[in-house]
Amino acid sequence: MIITRFAPSPNGLLHLGHAYSAIIAHDLACTAGGRFVLRLEDIDGARSRPELAEAFRQDLAWLGLEWEEVPAQSKRLASYAEAAERLKARGLLYPCQCTRAQIAATNPAIGPEGPIYPGTCKNRTLNQDLPFAWRLDVQRALALTGPLEWIDQIAGPQQAQPQLLGDPVLLRKDEPVSYHLAVTLDDAADGVTLVTRGADLFAASHLHRLLQALLDLPVPQWHHHNLLLDHAGRKLAKRRGSPSLADRRESGEDGQLLAEQLRLQTFPSGISLGKS
Ligand code: GLU
Repeated sequence: MIITRFAPSPNGLLHLGHAYSAIIAHDLACTAGGRFVLRLEDIDGARSRPELAEAFRQDLAWLGLEWEEVPAQSKRLASYAEAAERLKARGLLYPCQCTRAQIAATNPAIGPEGPIYPGTCKNRTLNQDLPFAWRLDVQRALALTGPLEWIDQIAGPQQAQPQLLGDPVLLRKDEPVSYHLAVTLDDAADGVTLVTRGADLFAASHLHRLLQALLDLPVPQWHHHNLLLDHAGRKLAKRRGSPSLADRRESGEDGQLLAEQLRLQTFPSGISLGKS
């Protein structure tokens, strides 16, 4: 059975891009008699606003979608810690005390997710007075797993290339876990068979595939859809004037009609679908 998910972070209200993503995930599951789940990715402590969860549910209902809600990430911290301990026990994580500014000062190569960590802390003794994060030693991990493959329903078969992202932080200094570790564990725990999300997270899937191999998790397929863009070709964002779904809903717009238009890729003026 196909299980897809919509996994918004309650850092701000949802906009049209989220609606598009949720509809795609919903329809992929529902037309195949599968399940569509909603998971709140609420572990971004300072930015997370739990009160937005109810607005998200109202938005999905307004669009005419049906879903099952699974536990939010904040309820799953023990599973993240346990998985991280397993990786540490195998010598695959190393502590890192570098700040963003220190990394930027090394003039690092820029990868699909930003600066590629130059490995400064890999063989460095910890300063006991400074906080630290834990990074995955990707080279070491790949030496254990060997080559890995994954399938994107749109882009086709992929060779996993987690090295493109450098050694990622899996346990953050300021928060219990990073997005990458949490999302990989959650998709497995929720039985997700088709990870549906925007193409901006395509590169992250190389790393998620590696984490699945290291943690003995089932391997789903992926469906990275193109993003909706604004008149200037940028990702939609409320701070750049894209109205939220809540604004649209409260102004009396017909959500089911909007959903039908998004399905037909008839977008409101100024909005277009990015190319892959
Ligand atoms: N929580 C992420 C976001 O709101 C999405 C993560 C995912 O779909 O894997 O951007």
